Amino acid sequence: RAVGLAKSFVVRGARGRRAVVRAVDDVSLDLHRGRVLALVGESGSGKSTVARLLAQLYPSTRGEVVLRGEAVRVRGGRRFRRYCRSVQMIFQDPFASLNPIHTIGYTLRRAIRIHHPKANRAQREAMLTGLLEQVHLTPASRYVDKFPHELSGGQRQRVAIARALGARPEVLLADEPVSMLDVSIRLGVLNLLQELKDELSLAILYITHDIASARYFADETIVMYAGRIVEHGDSERVTQAPAHPYTRLLVASAPDPDALDVERPPTSAGEPPSLISPPSGCRFHPRCPQAMARCSVEAPPLLPVPGGTAACWLYEASTGEDGTTEEAS
Ligand code: SF4
Ligand code: MG
Repeated sequence: RAVGLAKSFVVRGARGRRAVVRAVDDVSLDLHRGRVLALVGESGSGKSTVARLLAQLYPSTRGEVVLRGEAVRVRGGRRFRRYCRSVQMIFQDPFASLNPIHTIGYTLRRAIRIHHPKANRAQREAMLTGLLEQVHLTPASRYVDKFPHELSGGQRQRVAIARALGARPEVLLADEPVSMLDVSIRLGVLNLLQELKDELSLAILYITHDIASARYFADETIVMYAGRIVEHGDSERVTQAPAHPYTRLLVASAPDPDALDVERPPTSAGEPPSLISPPSGCRFHPRCPQAMARCSVEAPPLLPVPGGTAACWLYEASTGEDGTTEEAS
């Protein structure tokens, strides 16, 4: 669970000027064991930053990360180390995340040694075989002495997943785990994650810019735009009946929901905004076909829509004279 996460970075501009990049602004989300939450957005929407905040790769500017009711505060303490074990990350490029000079066996044995210092040699070897079997790299003996370059992209990603599982995590943060892989093997890796989620009762955060794959793979979907959550709900509802104008744009520009084609740029209507000086009010208003006068002035909060929430003034409930609630549109 993350509450009100915000992250700003200070960068140096061209003329040596410092600028604050508000990469993530007031993002709250809940992960549940045995469920997949998709975080969908364009590059620069802040979705990877959210994952890195959850992984505690760097501290948040505001907000907190909570695991089983315990806030993660002190970095470096025992509780912090336990948190870091429980929350494992899988990256986009398995080639970059595996050390090319080490064999698969070396990489996995090292992870096992770190996370299970009390296990003896025989136990560790059994764990190694078990991990490779869990990601369907069998027989394990065929893979332990291989180097990353001797494996396919899909096999490398399976090794990266096995390494993450070596920590016996509760949460997997998967940042574009299949977008660098051939279209033909993407489904296999997503199905493996799905299977492991059920078997090990993992909570998975699936980060993607492909909203079609979110429908296929995730129970719930959050759409981010310019560092903020714009829509949240059941994946089926978000992808089939999107409420937020930005989500509608994403869905409309993903023509084939079954292709799992994550290479296509998701939108064409304008460019994502600068996070150094984001648009006032609703950050989507310069691109929004339904923008109203107030949209450029006031930022909409997350408002209830059927089956979720959307940050859009179209859904501000107005109380009618008979006391019933209707949607302003
Ligand atoms: Fe469009 Fe206004 Fe809704 Fe923003 S708040 S998405 S500009 S209608
Ligand atoms: Mg990214």
